[in-house]
Amino acid sequence: LFRGDCQFMLGVTTMAALPPPDLPEFAFAGRSNVGKSSLINRLTGRKALARTSNTPGRTRELNFFDLGGRLRLVDLPGYGYAKASRSAVESWTGLTRDFLRGRPNLRRVHILVDSRHGLKPVDEETMSLLDESAVPYQLVLTKIDKIKPTEAARRIKAVGEAIGRRPAAHPDIIATSSETGDGIAALREGMTSIAAT
Ligand code: GDP
Repeated sequence: LFRGDCQFMLGVTTMAALPPPDLPEFAFAGRSNVGKSSLINRLTGRKALARTSNTPGRTRELNFFDLGGRLRLVDLPGYGYAKASRSAVESWTGLTRDFLRGRPNLRRVHILVDSRHGLKPVDEETMSLLDESAVPYQLVLTKIDKIKPTEAARRIKAVGEAIGRRPAAHPDIIATSSETGDGIAALREGMTSIAAT
């Protein structure tokens, strides 16, 4: 699935412009600079498919990528950008919230968390929004190559404990690196098996 044809489909700024809900969708959320673009590029094997959040004009859109006409990746706007005082839910447009709460074909949201920083209040807010809407999500640690293995183990444990306190059950955390490719296969396998059901 991830080896085949993958292309940018469209960027969306209104609910009316969403593509028809006819394919399984997997969304990617996280704070700006978490490594979201790098991860999407690594997942799809395309060098510059997803552009970084620094790219003007791309930051407020929901960007859809089509994988071989079988599933879609949805790059959500990065949250918590610059203003630490603004909550994730506030800094997101109504569109992103509406999308997360009401998209019938949204199969899973990947919440990306920088391995060096761990979970932030904005990530917890996102988890609460998804738990309230009964949308499944997967925690993904990024840039795991940037920390030592002992530190990584501690981080994985801490994040695991935090999701263990959530009302609903969630899958194990996946630790990834877009540099070394660690965890990328596990991420692909997770999506492939969900899309098949
Ligand atoms: P985005 O804003 O979430 O889309 O983040 P980007 O993908 O643009 O990444 C932000 C910065 O982190 C860039 O300088 C990337 O090169 C760097 N980066 C992203 N992923 C990794 C990773 O897995 N390992 C390392 N070492 N750096 C990364």
